Amino acid sequence: MMRFLADAMLGKLVRWLRILGCDTSYLPELQDSDLLELAVADGRTLLTRDVELHRVALRRGIPSILVKSHSIRGQLAELSPPVSLSLSESRCPLCNGALDTVTRADLNALCQPIPSKMALWRCIGCGKLYWNGRHWDSITEVIADLSR
Ligand SMILES: [Zn+2]
Repeated sequence: MMRFLADAMLGKLVRWLRILGCDTSYLPELQDSDLLELAVADGRTLLTRDVELHRVALRRGIPSILVKSHSIRGQLAELSPPVSLSLSESRCPLCNGALDTVTRADLNALCQPIPSKMALWRCIGCGKLYWNGRHWDSITEVIADLSR
C-alpha cells in the first residue's frame, strides 16, 4: 500500500484516501520545503496540485503525483491504479488513525445514540466512532462508480 503526503490544496481528497485505507498525511501548515523533507523522511509519495512543487520533487527523486482534476471523482480516477478503490481497511478521515471494530458492550460508557445492529468502528487515534449509515452508502456508490 502506498503512503501519501498531500499538499494543502487537497484536504478533501485526503479524507477520501483515508476512507479508502491509504495512510495519508496532511499538514496544510507546512511550507513546500518542509513537505519535501517530510516526504523523504516518511517514505511518502507527494500528492500536489502545484506543478512547480511537483517538478522540484521529481528532480530530487521524491515520488510525486500531480493531481489535476478539481472534482473528487476525477481526482480518485487519476490516482487509480496507485490507489485501490476498496473500503476494506478504512482509516479515520479526520486523523489518519487505523479503525478498530467495536462491540456494543464496549459502548456502554459512551452513551451515544447509535443505530442498532450496525457494524461499528472506533479510530485508535482520536476515538471517533463510525458506523454504516447513509453517508457510508454514498461513499460506497462513488467507489462502485469509479471501479466500473
Ligand atoms: Zn481519528
